[in-house]
Amino acid sequence: MKIESIKAHPLWVGDRNQLLVKVTTECGVHGWGEAGLSSRELAVAGAVEHFARFLVGRCPLEPARLWQELYRSQYFEGGRSLTAAMSAIDIALHDIAGKALDLPVHRLLGGKQRDVVPTFGCVRSDDVDELVAFARNAMDVGWNCLRLGWKEDAPEVFEPRPAIAWAARAMTAARRALGPQVTLGTDLHHRFSVAEAASFCSKLPQGTLDFVEEPIRDETPSAYASLRRMTDVPFAIGEEFASKWQFAPYVERQLLDHARVDICNVGGFTEAMKVAGWCEAHYVDLMPHNPLGPICTAATVHLAAAVPNLSWVECWETPDEALARQESPVFLDRLRLDDAVYPVPDAPGLGVDVDETRLCQDEPFRHSEMPHLRRADGSHTNW
Ligand SMILES: [Mg+2]
Repeated sequence: MKIESIKAHPLWVGDRNQLLVKVTTECGVHGWGEAGLSSRELAVAGAVEHFARFLVGRCPLEPARLWQELYRSQYFEGGRSLTAAMSAIDIALHDIAGKALDLPVHRLLGGKQRDVVPTFGCVRSDDVDELVAFARNAMDVGWNCLRLGWKEDAPEVFEPRPAIAWAARAMTAARRALGPQVTLGTDLHHRFSVAEAASFCSKLPQGTLDFVEEPIRDETPSAYASLRRMTDVPFAIGEEFASKWQFAPYVERQLLDHARVDICNVGGFTEAMKVAGWCEAHYVDLMPHNPLGPICTAATVHLAAAVPNLSWVECWETPDEALARQESPVFLDRLRLDDAVYPVPDAPGLGVDVDETRLCQDEPFRHSEMPHLRRADGSHTNW
């Protein structure tokens, strides 16, 4: 079997762009992957196009070997754009291998370790009462882990201190209303300084949150070590990490409590399984990042099925969330939730396919940017 072509398909789905990658083989089997570097899809598409020039003609059934070549063949190893492209290709190669062997992808990873994949539900509102109501609706369907947040429709100005005051009040009220059973967290989207993140955590009564996601940026592990000394709320971090080497200091220094591995950015199945093993050795569970479309979800579910150390997969299908990304007619045979869990799929490959006629006709790529936020004084701050 040989790779015949590799093509990147940037397209608009629902409320954002996605970058899908199709790998075809000379024997007619094809696979799909997705890259996760949102808002820089065309840069990743360029990397995919470059990689295709030396992958065509190669054996698609050796993804680990090709991974090494993709990562190490340019002297300047790594980098998010390149590993996002590698992720999509690696996922597509696993899809091909599964189809060629008539096995679901998790069977290529050692087989399933669970029958269903638990998820955490994302619940968002700017109104505390509505946030609690949405959380209750999700709990009624079966979610017992929720990530609470605020809407981000068109923010322009972000001031940390008012946001901290609102979020601390909202989280405290939610815990009081929802009781002690449900697991609750929030995502601070790496918008805060160490002092601000510590201040947020200090305003929460003990036991309010079971995890806080990305309180600060991740370039400097010692900054997380500093924050670790200032709060005992568990950290959920790692969705931006683009290799096992970025996870390494966080895992080895016990700076992350839930590993937010993103299979579409970290390097596909090949790299995500290594991260999972490293985390297992340190008694850390994966809590995979899953913000994209059905191909990302399917790849994430296969990964989550095959590792022993899993807490919850991120899920955007709570009753009060729009489903535009998942329910686009572009995708065929997507994985479907059973209440709040994904049954482990048994179809060959990923179990998802794409209606390519719709790729060309209905969903063209749109130039779009993540919000560029500024402080009240005019300075730039993180989205
Ligand atoms: Mg996040």
